Amino acid sequence: MGGTWYWNRYPGARCDSESFYYCYSFSEELEQEWEWSSKYPEQPEILRYLEHVADRFDLRRDITFETRVVEARFDDETGFWEVVTEPGERFLTRFLVTAVGCLSAANVPEIAGLERFRGEWFHTGAWPKEGVDFKGKRVGLIGTGSTGIQATPVIARQARHLTVFQRTANYSVPARNAPLTPERAKEIKANYAEIHRRTRESQAGFPYFPVERSALEVSEERRQEIYEQIWQEGGFKFLWGTFNDILRDREANATASEFIRGKIREIVKDPGTAELLCPTDHPYGSKRPPIDTDYFETYNRDNVSLVDIRSSPIVEITEDGLRTEEAEYPLDTIVFATGFDAMTGSLLKIDIRGEGGLSLRDKWAEGPRTYLGLQIAGFPNLFTITGPGSPSVLVNMPVAIEHHVDWISDCIEHMAEEGALRIEATPEAEDAWVEHSNEVALETLYYDARSWYLGVNIPGKPRVFMPYAGGQPLYREQCQAVVDEGYRGFELRG
Ligand code: NAP
Repeated sequence: MGGTWYWNRYPGARCDSESFYYCYSFSEELEQEWEWSSKYPEQPEILRYLEHVADRFDLRRDITFETRVVEARFDDETGFWEVVTEPGERFLTRFLVTAVGCLSAANVPEIAGLERFRGEWFHTGAWPKEGVDFKGKRVGLIGTGSTGIQATPVIARQARHLTVFQRTANYSVPARNAPLTPERAKEIKANYAEIHRRTRESQAGFPYFPVERSALEVSEERRQEIYEQIWQEGGFKFLWGTFNDILRDREANATASEFIRGKIREIVKDPGTAELLCPTDHPYGSKRPPIDTDYFETYNRDNVSLVDIRSSPIVEITEDGLRTEEAEYPLDTIVFATGFDAMTGSLLKIDIRGEGGLSLRDKWAEGPRTYLGLQIAGFPNLFTITGPGSPSVLVNMPVAIEHHVDWISDCIEHMAEEGALRIEATPEAEDAWVEHSNEVALETLYYDARSWYLGVNIPGKPRVFMPYAGGQPLYREQCQAVVDEGYRGFELRG
């Protein structure tokens, strides 16, 4: 139970969106009775919330745990999907809805020698339930994405020594986590309807008021004032609540990127370490921006060191540690905070076959292609929740997920009313959507980074910008227009 919040129980794991909008919106009773402890709850609290939802709505009786789906085949004659699980059990279903997660297929890089390492190693996305004891240990952590940035300060407080192996320096903004006071909780509960409305109408699923100003239309003094004020507030607001062109205009972006570099230089006492931590090879926000609690401050500790594996790459893992081109690092524990085969990885782990035995792996060999991120031509009655081609990971996830769940439920209900048994995206609609998605992505700065959005983190993965970058309002408008025009671009058959 809990999916990503079950597996990602690494030290420091907490939500990067605030609790009161990183939650379900379908039940007023649920939102009134649940008490969030803080702005950014930790993983155990989110997992408790998800367990509570399952119990409260009596969902467990409909869930089969410990069941890995390995195959799903569409039968042209019967119009049913046959789903096969690891022990070989078979299920027939008319509709197949995948909710396998955008960031669930862990990426453990192939580094020579891992099998002979005598210490322990872990990937943050498959963290042991019983936890890991770092006390007295020399720990090596690889990866400085959102996960590595959350884990670093917490592991540093426990370990004898922590060495962070950094390939790409990352921008991070303080979370400024704090307990939710009873007054604030009361205010939130009184305003949930409005909060949810704003999350659905905003670009990225956050209830911030939209900003209309460009970073280039205000004076330098005013710009710094705005950055400083929102830096003090903390969180994703730095990307979405400062100026409206940070992700669209390189010059505008440069002002935000430089502001953050200035903060890193201010916080980190050793100038060499500070410089190494300053990202210079991509604009802020072109990779998923992390938010942190004391990340940069942690490099001021005596028991923490930073190793640049961009200039001196990892060569191998030895019996006793890790060797880069320049030096050897004795380690007791290695933590891989190396991310995921994002958006397509967990779908393609399943052998999915559509019409005429068409394999999804073959169809997506050059990168994912979908219609609205909801369906794939050649795969009737298969729906993909937050699939590639939908805003998914560019939007606060529960908001994106609920939109898809509602759209798919309405579609299946519509089919029942019409007596339709089969729905399939047409190849023309899919082509047009892929073209439109590429166009809107090109209007952003997302191509300026080597990110998992583009599949660059996985060797050999096609370089395609996978989420829909047109923003939530435009996306929702198009999904609704498709429905209003009788499921335009889909073929429905009785
Ligand atoms: P990630 O963003 O993909 O970061 C992986 C890190 O590992 C990067 O620093 C990457 O370096 C490095 N890396 C990967 N392969 C490597 C290799 N072979 N050698 C050396 N370094 C390597 O993964 P993540 O930090 O797990 O985050 C993934 C996503 O999960 C986030 O972007 C976010 O959407 C989500 N997330 C959310 C939360 C939250 O809301 N609480 C928390 C954590 C994660 P390069 O940059 O050079 O590739």
